[in-house]
Amino acid sequence: MTAFASLEGKVALVTGGGTGIGLGIATSLAAAGATVAIASRKPEHLEPAAAELRARGARVSTVETNVREPEAVTRMVERVAEAHGRLDILVNNAAGNFYAPSATLSPNAWRAVVETDLYGSFYCAQAAYPLMKSQGGGRIVSISMTLHYRGWPLMAHATAAKAGVDALTRTLALEWAADHITVNAVAPGPIPTEGVKKAFTPPDARAPDLFRMDEYAARSIPLGRWGTPADVGGMVTFLASPAGDWITGAIFVVDGGSWLAGERG
Ligand code: NAP
Repeated sequence: MTAFASLEGKVALVTGGGTGIGLGIATSLAAAGATVAIASRKPEHLEPAAAELRARGARVSTVETNVREPEAVTRMVERVAEAHGRLDILVNNAAGNFYAPSATLSPNAWRAVVETDLYGSFYCAQAAYPLMKSQGGGRIVSISMTLHYRGWPLMAHATAAKAGVDALTRTLALEWAADHITVNAVAPGPIPTEGVKKAFTPPDARAPDLFRMDEYAARSIPLGRWGTPADVGGMVTFLASPAGDWITGAIFVVDGGSWLAGERG
């Protein structure tokens, strides 16, 4: 029988693992037995998260990095290998996001989101590849979204970047299958993390209210509630586990039915 949740002896690296969904993923992977490294730019995000994970009995380390910088990403993977001896699971979760009209989106703002979400996912996957290959395989999971399935006004940068992440997922899955590296993505629906609440600032004046309205979820999300970081963590852990052995190039929507119903995703 295939074991779902046995990651004992595995080492996972979660970018953006100090906050929101990334912390939920790190928590889930650690609960399944993995040693977890969490990486992002700000120690004030990483250190409290590491303390929280350790308090739950997790083996965890932190790495300060900026996924927009390929050299920093290479050093991040080296540091994980030094600290834990291997790398089995990479989760590309780091992202930046905010609402902005395309007509006035500055080149810097466009670059910041596309470089973080898309370039960062590629740099991390490319840096992890030789180590995973030398170990005989690995799992890469990128966190995508659903907004680009239908288009989403004021999100040109993020929807373009995440569409690229989906394409990258399928292409890397084919290129690296022979190395026993699976490459998949998880597309979350609406999860009211602190990060996403900050992103929902004007010009979409309607948006901040959504997170204050309990009845919104009951009315508008088919499964009747907001998502949680643990919902995404469960899917990532499934893909990282032996149950995910024969799954590659797939993109799993975890959204309570939101995008199918045509609601905010
Ligand atoms: P979040 O808490 O703001 O997470 C973003 C994380 O990325 C932070 O920990 C941040 O840490 C890190 N990060 C940002 N820029 C970085 C950089 N250049 N280098 C390294 N790390 C960087 O938001 P979230 O809601 O949990 O989102 C997590 C993921 O889920 C994202 O990929 C997002 O697109 C996706 N998603 C979220 C939702 C939702 O409703 N929440 C829906 C669909 C998809 P530092 O500031 O310390 O660098």
